[in-house]
Amino acid sequence: MAELIKEPEKITRFTFLRNGMRAFVGLTLGVIGGWTAFGARKRNTVWQIDPMKCVQCEHCSTSCVVSPSAVKCVQSYSICGYCQLCFGYFQPEAPELTSAAENQLCPTDAIERVFVEDPYWEYNILEDRCIGCAKCIQPCEMFGNASFYLQVRHDVCVNCNNCSIAMQCPSDAWVRLPADQPYMLKHKQDYPLEPQIELSLTANLPIRK
Ligand code: SF4
Ligand code: SF4
Ligand code: SF4
Repeated sequence: MAELIKEPEKITRFTFLRNGMRAFVGLTLGVIGGWTAFGARKRNTVWQIDPMKCVQCEHCSTSCVVSPSAVKCVQSYSICGYCQLCFGYFQPEAPELTSAAENQLCPTDAIERVFVEDPYWEYNILEDRCIGCAKCIQPCEMFGNASFYLQVRHDVCVNCNNCSIAMQCPSDAWVRLPADQPYMLKHKQDYPLEPQIELSLTANLPIRK
């Protein structure tokens, strides 16, 4: 039987940028994860959202004791289609495909739209603006690649014993995770860093008191 031989991926400027961004996201999550591990060592477990159970009900933006919420949208760059027409970014009836406020779905202008090369656009979450309202997530899930989803950010969350969002979550999406593995990522492609690389990244970080 003839073997299927996969052609090597052609390296374009786009794939180069995409691979770079993938590594960057891995670094970001690795650093935050490691930082959390230091800070939460005594408590051992932290809250997290199972993205496969979340039904985007908006409690995450309204019920957190921290303001704005410790729940943020995250972008899976490995899954995103880099679409010109992003259903998570644009209003369904957007008059134009531009970044003008009236075209955007996000109520807080928390998604940055950056041109890569024709016809690709990159979408970045500006976490300091994100309120975890999930408005961008359902359309991305229904009509796009489901690259947007919610996670608790442990540099913001104060790890309440009884998380007020978890108490109200209608889909039982909240779980406790070990503090040294605090993220529940939706796609296996979101785990680009092996543990030993993550450890080497976090080894020199200051310990949070
Ligand atoms: S409360 Fe639960 S279902 Fe609602 S957005 Fe948050 S995690 Fe999703
Ligand atoms: S629509 Fe809501 S969840 Fe999505 S980026 Fe904006 S504030 Fe965050
Ligand atoms: S544990 Fe507390 S701070 Fe963290 S997400 Fe829940 S309510 Fe917000």
